[in-house]
Amino acid sequence: MSDLLKVSKNGWETVTEAEIDTIFNFCEGYKNFIDSAKTERLAVKKAVEIAKENGFVDLNTKESLNAGDKVYFVNREKSVYLAVIGKEDITKGINFIIAHLDAPRIDIKANPLYEANDMALLKTHYYGGIRKYQWITIPLSLIGVVYKKDGSRVDINIGENDNDPVFYITDLAPHLAKDQAQKKMAECIEGENLNIIIGSATAGSENEKFKTAVLQILNEKYGITEEDFASAEIEAVPNSKARDVGIDRSLIGAYAHDDRVCSYTALMAMCDIKAPEKTIACVLVDKEEIGSMGNTGMKGAAFEYVTAMLISKAKADYNELMKMTLFRNSSCLSGDVTTAFDPNYPEVNDRLNAAYLGHGVSVSKYTGSRGKYDTSDASAEFVSKIRTCFEANGVVWQMAELGKVDHGGGGTIAQYVANLDVDVLDCGTALLSMHAPVEIASKYDVYMTYKAYKAFYGLN
Ligand code: MN
Ligand code: MN
Repeated sequence: MSDLLKVSKNGWETVTEAEIDTIFNFCEGYKNFIDSAKTERLAVKKAVEIAKENGFVDLNTKESLNAGDKVYFVNREKSVYLAVIGKEDITKGINFIIAHLDAPRIDIKANPLYEANDMALLKTHYYGGIRKYQWITIPLSLIGVVYKKDGSRVDINIGENDNDPVFYITDLAPHLAKDQAQKKMAECIEGENLNIIIGSATAGSENEKFKTAVLQILNEKYGITEEDFASAEIEAVPNSKARDVGIDRSLIGAYAHDDRVCSYTALMAMCDIKAPEKTIACVLVDKEEIGSMGNTGMKGAAFEYVTAMLISKAKADYNELMKMTLFRNSSCLSGDVTTAFDPNYPEVNDRLNAAYLGHGVSVSKYTGSRGKYDTSDASAEFVSKIRTCFEANGVVWQMAELGKVDHGGGGTIAQYVANLDVDVLDCGTALLSMHAPVEIASKYDVYMTYKAYKAFYGLN
């Protein structure tokens, strides 16, 4: 088999024992983070916890901002904007790293509960680009919030504790799957069939005794009724914890590397910077997996709102032109994952332009599909600036393209930031099995992503 047709080099070849220790230790912190951040709400909560430990305070509590101030702003519990104020005038631009905290999953519908054939089940609607067959026959946790009729809130988290029960979507036995097996892969599991088993015991002998049994438990434990599902957000997520993969422990298998790996590494890089020349910001957003829509997604106005708030607290004479000038002078790394070359599926990549596990952080000049549609396509000048910065700081990096031309593709938040007049480049970690319940990342690349972000935050 021909070897890599590739410009970049494998980073493990040149790491020292001490560096391996540093890389592995950093990844233990990351594994803890993703295990405690299975939903966007939990990820925001965890990110704020880490930020507070590192001296960040709520932006709302600050009357004015001065060099060295560290602040955070939480948007509706689902996205968070962190900044360290630079010595330089804020309108000279911010070094932004923007990543997303939402991940593909299965959401519970508003009227979910029903019983059928001596079982109680929940109807679902999947979120993001999942390959449905991967999400069945695995243990799932249910995590989210429920608002009761009186407006009070209950947080739900069932499955993450080892003593908790888990939830499950069935599949046919191979013995009975003759017809299903003839279907196209995209059609073999229907979205409306992703129903989650929630119980099979009975309460009483009346009609709907299986459903009643579930409702009784929900009412006893959480005080919720069937109608309360309407004002709830409950997500079914893989129950598995982040694990080392490979006998050498060089890889991490976990749910939602996309994109909590870029979120965590950006956050950690930010916490390391003490007194930057330029203001630096780490923005962790929601809804990327469904098109960045809504008031917690990157297309929403909150990004501009918080930026305006930063300017107005740093400068008494805020005006609209200052915000536009700030964006025009800003640089951004769009922190998002890309696909790594998979030896099982070499045919989907251009070997010369694919990302490889262990080759460092991945940089994509453009994403998009069908002839660079829906991408901002970074300029050669900006790529050069980032390249120089990485080289000067010992960052091992590789250029990456998401698959062969016309073999699919995808987008990131880069284009929405670029539309605001900011220079943006996609830069993140390469993954195997992206969007699967367990995705694979190389520890080396996770660490290099952190190192790349830290170097970028030091950029003037
Ligand atoms: Mn992503
Ligand atoms: Mn994704």
